[in-house]
Amino acid sequence: MSTVASSPSADLFEVHASTTPVPDDERAQHLAAPRFGTVFTDHMSRISFSQERGWHSRRVEPYGPLQLAPATSVLHYGQEIFEGLKAYRHADGSVWTFRPQANAARFARSAHRLALPELPEEDFLASIEALVRADAAWVPTGEETSLYLRPFMYASESFLGVRPSLEAEYLVIASPVGPYFSGGVRPVAIWVDQEFHRAGAGGTGAAKCGGNYAASLLPQQRAYDKGFEQVCFLDASTNTYLEELGGMNIFVVHADGSVVTPPVSGSILEGVTRSSILQLLTDAGHEVSQRQVTLAELRAGLADASITEVFACGTAAVITPIGRLASDDFDLTVADGAAGPVTTRTRAELTDIQYGRATDRHGWLHRLL
Ligand SMILES: *Cc1c(COP(=O)(O)O)cnc(C)c1O
Repeated sequence: MSTVASSPSADLFEVHASTTPVPDDERAQHLAAPRFGTVFTDHMSRISFSQERGWHSRRVEPYGPLQLAPATSVLHYGQEIFEGLKAYRHADGSVWTFRPQANAARFARSAHRLALPELPEEDFLASIEALVRADAAWVPTGEETSLYLRPFMYASESFLGVRPSLEAEYLVIASPVGPYFSGGVRPVAIWVDQEFHRAGAGGTGAAKCGGNYAASLLPQQRAYDKGFEQVCFLDASTNTYLEELGGMNIFVVHADGSVVTPPVSGSILEGVTRSSILQLLTDAGHEVSQRQVTLAELRAGLADASITEVFACGTAAVITPIGRLASDDFDLTVADGAAGPVTTRTRAELTDIQYGRATDRHGWLHRLL
């Protein structure tokens, strides 16, 4: 066990403790049955940016509404980015997060693409540490529960001219979450959208920004109305290659054990879960490649059983088996609609590392408490 990654930078956060924290018994109720993203902890971390002062006023303050002038730039031009990671409680009571440096680096890349100021990695890590310290009692203990952390940044200048904002606000909020699937991991049905795209070449697909999600909501809603849980998007240039789901990357497993995922070529978000799975599969002896996969190839592979499993991955649900893939012109069952062995084993390996049940051989864990 390493010692607590005590960062002096977390001490730079001035703590304004809530005078109305959620009562212990009420918090216990929330922690017993957390639902994704519905309940938030007592505090939030915050750092402000201005052209003159740079990043300043690092603080932890009571969770609460933000006051925005109606002309605030984010409300008009969508200059906003976010991240998502989790704090996991281990059996000995310690609290850890998973590869937060990767989230910090991606947040900086997203900021660059959205013409927002880049937040230094040190501030990103310290903001999380300061919040989890203040709200330590909110990190749940149940199986496959965690504290979901949502760092985000928005353009806060009150100005309608079209240019990058000279002011920004960075915040981290936190929400206790339970197992994504109540009652065990369950394969989902995916609609392959051949009409709408979430991102295009040269666009913002590789950035984690609210705008990409806005573009995915109508197709998502239409798929939902047809009885599907998520959408798989194709590339916007040729409508041929698999890209990813609205908020998850995709993997294809072949009967010979080889595994393929689309390359992060600009319109696909580089998931931390994705890169961790690439490593775990390589460790396990799978032949792993990052290459383009056509929808035609996927359909043919499912039809002749040379493709045996398809799964999606991301921080929130870890690994989600895909049991059905359909579109206007096809409807295919994957792995008999069940979770296949590679999917199941990889999911267990990853969560075992995250919850401290397996050796962290790649040094992915970062201790918070
Ligand atoms: C966040 C996100 C993912 C998954 O990334 P993780 O770092 O694994 O959580 C995949 N695709 C999109 C579009 C995302 O926004």
